[in-house]
Amino acid sequence: MKPAVPSLYPASAHEWDRWILDRRPLRADLDPWRPYDFRLEHECSASGETVPVATIFLTNRECPWRCLMCDLWRNTLEKEVPAGAIPAQIDHALARLAPARQIKLYNSGSFFDPHAVPPGDHSVIAGKLSAFERLIVESHPALIGDRCLPFRDSLGGRLEVAMGLETAHSEILLRLNKRMTLPQFSAAAEWLRKHEIDLRVFVLVQPPFMKEAESLDWAERSLDFAFNCGATAVSLIPTRSGNGAMEQLAASGDFSPPRLKTLEAAAAYGLSLRRGRVFTDLWDLKQVRSCWECRERRVSRLREMNLNQTIPPRISCLVCGE
Ligand code: SF4
Ligand SMILES: [Zn+2]
Repeated sequence: MKPAVPSLYPASAHEWDRWILDRRPLRADLDPWRPYDFRLEHECSASGETVPVATIFLTNRECPWRCLMCDLWRNTLEKEVPAGAIPAQIDHALARLAPARQIKLYNSGSFFDPHAVPPGDHSVIAGKLSAFERLIVESHPALIGDRCLPFRDSLGGRLEVAMGLETAHSEILLRLNKRMTLPQFSAAAEWLRKHEIDLRVFVLVQPPFMKEAESLDWAERSLDFAFNCGATAVSLIPTRSGNGAMEQLAASGDFSPPRLKTLEAAAAYGLSLRRGRVFTDLWDLKQVRSCWECRERRVSRLREMNLNQTIPPRISCLVCGE
């Protein structure tokens, strides 16, 4: 992909935070006592059962990292939430959701960041979730360690931590400004495995600076890397713009959203490995490029892959010829 105009992303890592922050649009105006979203979905469990899973998107203080592709900060606060606010958010969502067996508490950052989720609330949170067989939270690898153990021990069910690998392409990972290396990711994964905490991994499909022609290959290598780290599940995330910085990279030819066929092929590869579950994030496909004629059929195929963990027959289309 030849840049339309020279890349504007600074060469020096010292300038990345500022460059990314300077491009931010406004954040949402949120109530610290309410989750900013919640939903019930069905997911294939590790044992192959389809189980109802509640997902609560917690409102809390924004993550301290400044990843180039991240737009999650838009639904965060600049200040820490008061003690009791996160348990109140959980109550609010659970009172409105149908019963579920598993629960995801996604906080647009790291659950184990003490400025995001007050550690004083951990035991109250664990008490509220005691009936769930599994709790899935997110964390940056740098925050994985002994601080996770009291929370793990206070849960009724199993703890699973979702970590963003983003990509196994080490140079691009560096430029994403996640301030994490592949060995650091592996070490955090190993720590989780040793402490009987399951690992879910987020992989970006076609992150910025990646040539479109190489994006499937790198999604496959990232799946391999995640499973080598012991992941029980990998979620493929189509990279999107929406945080100001990514729009600028798109204008200079350093980023374009992936094609639906790339997502399909990456998911099929991951499933063919039979090393763990593979999900494609279908929450926001607006920017994913595809043919108008077969788009719905391909999204349905991905939904089927997610739910059944099988690879349905390929879709043919006379319009795009794929
Ligand atoms: S660590 Fe995660 S939440 Fe934090 S900025 Fe990076 S991608 Fe966003
Ligand atoms: Zn088509």
